[in-house]
Amino acid sequence: HAKAAGRNAYRFFETSMNTNVHNQLQIMQDLRLALERKEFRLHYQAKYDAANRRVIGAEALLRWQHPERGLIAPDHFIALAEKSGMIVPIGEWVLNEACRQMRTWYDAGRTEWKVSVNLSAVQFAHDNLVELVKATLERHRLPARCLILEVTESTAMQDVETSLSILNRLAGLGIDISIDDFGTGYSSLLYLKRMPARELKIDRGFIRDLADGTDDAAIVSAIIALGHSLDLHIVAEGVETEKQQDFLTELGCNSLQGFLLGRPMAPEQFQALTTMQVDPA
Ligand code: C2E
Ligand code: MG
Ligand code: MG
Ligand code: MG
Repeated sequence: HAKAAGRNAYRFFETSMNTNVHNQLQIMQDLRLALERKEFRLHYQAKYDAANRRVIGAEALLRWQHPERGLIAPDHFIALAEKSGMIVPIGEWVLNEACRQMRTWYDAGRTEWKVSVNLSAVQFAHDNLVELVKATLERHRLPARCLILEVTESTAMQDVETSLSILNRLAGLGIDISIDDFGTGYSSLLYLKRMPARELKIDRGFIRDLADGTDDAAIVSAIIALGHSLDLHIVAEGVETEKQQDFLTELGCNSLQGFLLGRPMAPEQFQALTTMQVDPA
């Protein structure tokens, strides 16, 4: 059912995007209302340590709880939110909500966890991003080390010098910068070297068919070696099988994320998943 609903939602947005300006304005209007009506939700997907399989944090993933269409995935509305500029207030909501949630985990003793938040290029171009992040952390009395901001290679490539300056200021706050979907963009190694990143996430396109002796295995092990030589923490996304998990662990990947351990889920379910984790004595 969820799949069918997702397809319908996709058709709705795709068709709308191909029709007229009026329709686009309608969706943009809906997005604005959605914020006022509090229809956005964050789901959380666990990120875990490859070596000991313990949860080390979660990625916040945006969902739109549409009154008629049900739960809509971000791929179906982020582009329009970016186009209309609505991604700026929506992104502000995401950041605040993720930090609020991280604060409750922190208070529950998960002081070593980090919450990851995705940033769009449009938010990145907004010059008050650094102040926003700083103010949000302060609002929730959250240590900066509990926050990771994920940017894609292409986000950061739009205006290299400006991006580097913003990223440096963000890193200066003490948060971690993560390069999302690594391997799908076209950033140069020189640029990667200049990025103040702590983490590199291997795109799930390389993980899907991972097996001994494949091209993907060669690429993934090269990315891990490159990342480690630049002192980066390596995360694999889209881990769906035990085989992928074991292989990635063997290759020295630091952390894993994927349906194998847990799908993105509502905070209450996420709570249930992680309380099953037994704390060491
Ligand atoms: P992403 O940041 O690369 O997030 C990972 C995506 O992969 C998520 O899709 C997640 O549900 C999916 N995924 C995780 N594990 C697996 C797996 O094992 N198998 C498969 N097939 N998929 C897996 P989702 O939640 O639909 O998000 C899609 C994209 O939307 C994200 O990709 C991110 O670029 C964007 N996005 C999500 N939330 C936000 C947000 O708050 N702000 C912005 N600007 N973008 C967001
Ligand atoms: Mg991400
Ligand atoms: Mg990703
Ligand atoms: Mg992605």
